[in-house]
Amino acid sequence: MSFNIDNITRENVKGLRPYSSARDEYVSDGSEMVFLDANENPYENGVNRYPDPQQRNLKGILADQKGVGTDNILLGNGSDEVLDLLFRAFCEPNRDNIVTLPPTYGMYKVLAGINNISNREVLLTADFQPDVDAILKAIDGQTRILFLCSPNNPTGNSFSADGIAELLKNFQGLVVIDEAYIDFSEKTSWATELSNFPNLIVTQTLSKAYGMAGIRLGICLASPQIITILNKIKPPYNINELTQQRALERVSDKGRVQKEVSAILKERANLIAALEEVDFVGAVYPTDANFVLVKVDHATDRYNQLLGKGIVVRNRTTQPRCGNTLRFTIGTPEENNKLIKVLKSLEHIG
Ligand SMILES: *Cc1c(COP(=O)(O)O)cnc(C)c1O
Repeated sequence: MSFNIDNITRENVKGLRPYSSARDEYVSDGSEMVFLDANENPYENGVNRYPDPQQRNLKGILADQKGVGTDNILLGNGSDEVLDLLFRAFCEPNRDNIVTLPPTYGMYKVLAGINNISNREVLLTADFQPDVDAILKAIDGQTRILFLCSPNNPTGNSFSADGIAELLKNFQGLVVIDEAYIDFSEKTSWATELSNFPNLIVTQTLSKAYGMAGIRLGICLASPQIITILNKIKPPYNINELTQQRALERVSDKGRVQKEVSAILKERANLIAALEEVDFVGAVYPTDANFVLVKVDHATDRYNQLLGKGIVVRNRTTQPRCGNTLRFTIGTPEENNKLIKVLKSLEHIG
């Protein structure tokens, strides 16, 4: 049996036609037009008009940069909206299921709950890799989406390409590879493999390396077939005008993004070296992201000590396979130096 999008699309979604907005219904030939179609206030202030519902300018640049077509792209109000659209298009509430691989990003489970989809959890192996055999066993005829996060949050490592390829080939539902941290990694994006795997969906975001968490822009890369279905159910104006403008400016200035990423990677190496010198640090896990997971002696006590010194980190101790771990985001050199200085000064516990 091979992948067939019709087998996994919700019946109600198959019959939908996208909301047709005023600006969707005519094609500009470049001539000056008078817009009396959308009940906007006609006085110009930069945002008095509805935004482009298909974000054509932004998608044009992103398509060039990522080596895909504009029909391979859907943009969301953060990747969280993209993920939610996937549930609403492909998972029938109270019937279908998804598979996730803890310890991982918490939103897959939250969205499964919101959409009333059961979440089958298959733990990562001890070295934080997908357990391919166990995943294939957990999958059944109602499994619609397998979520892979690579580089994975909170562990930081990338998943083996062979393991991912095996899952793509042997699962007849959608494989979502969440690449929120791909710009910090030396690995190539799975977006280059879209034409080889019809069931592949890659999500990316401007929230991390691009430094734009505040504007909320998530990117979904998939086959035109999948994108067409998502376009049927997305809110027509989900990417507001200010977000489109700021995102365009930023992605057009890739040199600046790359400089910041290089600085963060250099700091990451420094921070890892310094963490290995801290006496209560038991392990610093390998990372391809802009954070590092660290095993300590008493995670919750260390977390509270750091809070007392004005430093907020992420305590991951309750996550499976993450007992007594803290996750540190790479900050500026000043922030990282403060973290190290404070860590080295903390009182002994126990
Ligand atoms: C931060 C993060 C995101 C980003 O979500 P946005 O909604 O785009 O801000 C997505 N996936 C993972 C794994 C993340 O850590």
